[in-house]
Amino acid sequence: MAPIPTFWSPRIGALEPYVPGEQPRIEGLIKLNTNENPYPPSPRVLDAVQAAAANGLERYPDPESMALREAVAAYYGLTRDQVFAGNGSDEVLAHAFFAFFQQAEPLLFADVTYSFYRVYAQLYGIECALQPVDDTLTIDVDAMAARAAQGCGGLVIANPNAPTGRSLPLADIERLLVACPARVVLVDEAYVDFGAQSAVSLIARHPNLLVVQTLSKSRSLAGLRVGFACGQAPLIDALTRVKNSFNSYPIDRLASAGAVAALEDEAWFRQTRDAIVDTREGLVLQLEDLGFEVQPSHANFVFVRHPAYDAAALAAALRERAVLVRHFRQPRIEQYLRISIGTRAQCSALVDASATIVG
Ligand code: PMP
Repeated sequence: MAPIPTFWSPRIGALEPYVPGEQPRIEGLIKLNTNENPYPPSPRVLDAVQAAAANGLERYPDPESMALREAVAAYYGLTRDQVFAGNGSDEVLAHAFFAFFQQAEPLLFADVTYSFYRVYAQLYGIECALQPVDDTLTIDVDAMAARAAQGCGGLVIANPNAPTGRSLPLADIERLLVACPARVVLVDEAYVDFGAQSAVSLIARHPNLLVVQTLSKSRSLAGLRVGFACGQAPLIDALTRVKNSFNSYPIDRLASAGAVAALEDEAWFRQTRDAIVDTREGLVLQLEDLGFEVQPSHANFVFVRHPAYDAAALAAALRERAVLVRHFRQPRIEQYLRISIGTRAQCSALVDASATIVG
């Protein structure tokens, strides 16, 4: 490794650059590797973005993202001071880590979960305590709650979890909230719309609950970069202070207009979401027929392994057949593949390609 330049801050050397390999610039690939929605956003989004582009781009956007926060608040029956908006939920998560988790005690999260939690912790010098998932990759909620109750700097849980797709019932989330009342419990609901229960309904009862969601997945807006957090007003106030210290204007005019339009088109949302859930259920059966073991999924992806084939070799063989899936070189899950749910045609192509390898 090249020596770390002396002008870098010491912690920068430990940060890893994003490997753009998951976003190859090759036409014609069946891209089932980054959990994007295979369907376009509501046509109303395009209209709204075009209208916004025709009007006001020379002006800064609203620093308070009022229209978007009001749309989220209306959707969930909250007030706008209970909603924070950011440039993708990754940015919202980063601000939340800065705002809530720089504590004396370590931050608690599962050892198999969204990889960016470690990145943000490292960025801000936050110590982590990893709660091991069991052999079925399930989070042991009793063990996690007991550990949280002994003292933690906060708790992060993805529900459904990534990359497994498994979800927890709200009663389990509530046990975690009760276990560490003095610290924030962040529930990352990037995939909640594909079959899990949202913890937003618990916000009124739990001042330590922050729910983070994204429009990248169930609303088909990964390209616009919009995410949001919901929680009681003091949590939103903390996030706003952090945001203002980084960038007063995280949501640009086009993203805001498109996001509001997406939230207002419930029919489009349901239709595309239902198609994905339906395709997922069919895909699970077809993969099981091919001998794959499939984790139960409430997300827009499935997490699978084949007892007779090496996962890295399978991913490479699929790539040779122009199908991209995700393989993680990570302890405990290196024999798994994560497959995003595409259109029915894309999933058929994946099954056909898999059959030529494992069939
Ligand atoms: N949380 C989880 C669990 C995710 O998988 C992702 C997407 N990779 C995100 C958050 C971030 O999504 P975005 O920044 O597109 O909103």
